[in-house]
Amino acid sequence: MNHIKEQLAEIRSSIKEAAKSAGRNPAEVKLVAVSKTFPPEAVSMAYSEGQRIFGENKVQELEVKCPALPGDIEWHLIGHLQSNKALKAINLASWIHSVDSIKLLKRIDRLAEENSLKPNILLELNISGEGSKFGLTDEKAAMDLAEAAVECKNISFKGLMTMAPFDAEENELRNVFSGLRGLRDRIEKKFSVKLPELSMGMSSDYKIAIEEGATFVRIGTAIFGKRSYAI
Ligand SMILES: *Cc1c(COP(=O)(O)O)cnc(C)c1O
Repeated sequence: MNHIKEQLAEIRSSIKEAAKSAGRNPAEVKLVAVSKTFPPEAVSMAYSEGQRIFGENKVQELEVKCPALPGDIEWHLIGHLQSNKALKAINLASWIHSVDSIKLLKRIDRLAEENSLKPNILLELNISGEGSKFGLTDEKAAMDLAEAAVECKNISFKGLMTMAPFDAEENELRNVFSGLRGLRDRIEKKFSVKLPELSMGMSSDYKIAIEEGATFVRIGTAIFGKRSYAI
């Protein structure tokens, strides 16, 4: 597993470089090491190199890994969350990147109140990168979801997340990422809130995402290697 140590070092310096060349402060860009499908030993290896933020796709995997690993790890749930797993999710992960409906949002808010928790929430939005639509999403639906998030008292609404289409070309990726940033700016203005976090960019496109304002990049393959099964 020595490759993890080397690849992590490489990614870190490449993130720094991308931030600097975009005229940004490298400390603004945080690495979420996506450990899905990899065993706790792989997480340990990255942990021993100082990595503290890890991302998982599934509550079931969090249930296995959290108790097996040090308590000062900050776990981020980045994959789709089913309502019936929301309680487990907020007990295990302090950040949820994938809140995509008002129903799920309200459920998380209620469960957080009942359990005296205050999860950090990002809203996951689909942004179209097609030239003709120039990074537009369903603006009304996005605003309705954001308004609901602003009204929730037991969550900490921190920003937005998106996944770019995996086969997109650079231009399209750029439109998706800048589209998410623009939407964030409009939400901040409309509801007078601060939304500092933009979770965007994965192994293949994180440099572009950083140029467009990412504050969390979610990187799996480039650190841990190819996953042996899809998840
Ligand atoms: C798996 C996954 C990633 C990491 O993807 P890589 O291409 O392996 O870096 C990032 N975000 C989400 C939501 C994922 O499911």
